[in-house]
Amino acid sequence: MSAITSSLMILAVKHRVSEVFSHHRQWPAALLLAILFLLVTACADTTPPMQVHSGITMGTTFSVKWIGVDGLESTEIARRIDSALVAINQSMSTYISDSELSVINQQPAGSAHQVSAELGEVLALSLEVGAISEGAFDITVGPLVNLWGFGPNGRVLHAPSEDQIATVRPQVGFHKLQYDVNTRVLTRVVKSYIDLSAVAKGYGVDYVAEILEKAGISDYLVEIGGELRARGSKPNGQPWRIAIETPTAEFERSVQRILAVRDVSIATSGDYRNYFEDNGVRFSHTIDPATAAPIDHRLASVTVLMPTCAEADALATTLMVMGPDKGMAFANEQGIKIFMLVKTDTGFEERMSPGFEQYLVQ
Ligand code: ADP
Ligand code: MG
Repeated sequence: MSAITSSLMILAVKHRVSEVFSHHRQWPAALLLAILFLLVTACADTTPPMQVHSGITMGTTFSVKWIGVDGLESTEIARRIDSALVAINQSMSTYISDSELSVINQQPAGSAHQVSAELGEVLALSLEVGAISEGAFDITVGPLVNLWGFGPNGRVLHAPSEDQIATVRPQVGFHKLQYDVNTRVLTRVVKSYIDLSAVAKGYGVDYVAEILEKAGISDYLVEIGGELRARGSKPNGQPWRIAIETPTAEFERSVQRILAVRDVSIATSGDYRNYFEDNGVRFSHTIDPATAAPIDHRLASVTVLMPTCAEADALATTLMVMGPDKGMAFANEQGIKIFMLVKTDTGFEERMSPGFEQYLVQ
């Protein structure tokens, strides 16, 4: 029960008491009853209110829900969340021309940069995922992403030519980046264009979660553009319930499955929201660095559970690149819990890694 409803009930009780008090002169019994009522109401009203803050960041929406703690105004938490998201965006966005990352991307080959702790963390994780996935995840795909019309320069009507692809290919390859975690120095061997779009939302979620943790909040759900992190429980003590969508067109939204989770991050990658069609062929925003082209397989979406959302986000894109078979083999080898929706001639087939069922409620 919310604070507002409970205070309304107390007002109502008070009002009734006063009525009984003035008209019937049986005030001791009435007063006892009223006190009893107040006590019962107070005991039943243990559900804490849920705080919500939402807005726009990283070209998408975000929403944060939490159960407040004493002594900290929700407006103050909201202020901290907003300024953190602005800072992360100002560090990692390729859509902001003077972001920390954009400034680096504009420098010539061979340039070395000492990066912020936040950018350093994301670079280190991204390069690690690049290495374990043998390049399926590659933050230097930026020039290809742009060529295929999924970057800051906007959409294209047609697939790029072989020549256009061949021109940018030498810039691509995460091995052409060197990052020293101790000094936080990033060296670009070639004129790499780094694109953190596949991991920054997840990192933003972790960063906001950290703000809540530091404020002593231990029940929350943080979400940026569908990537999320849950901790603790909802105000009614139940686990957080998260819907996995059925991969259908933009205007239709239907639920494929519902997960109940308490302490986990969840990210989903899909080919069904961000794509363009040329000559009846659908081109997705996920690029396979091996072919320099958008992915071409039957994996429609993959949902990944990990402790941190940055990992979940990066791995969801990684598995999307790998496709249904290689992706499932990789996830099982790495012990990553995933849920796939694979296109069939008639609809979608579900595939999940061992241990995923425990989260399913529907
Ligand atoms: P999804 O939720 O579908 O994974 P994301 O926004 O997390 O979507 O990631 C997609 C973005 O990642 C693309 O728009 C592009 O900027 C970038 N990207 C595409 N292919 C790769 C890749 N192979 N490795 C890393 N980043 C990629
Ligand atoms: Mg991603």
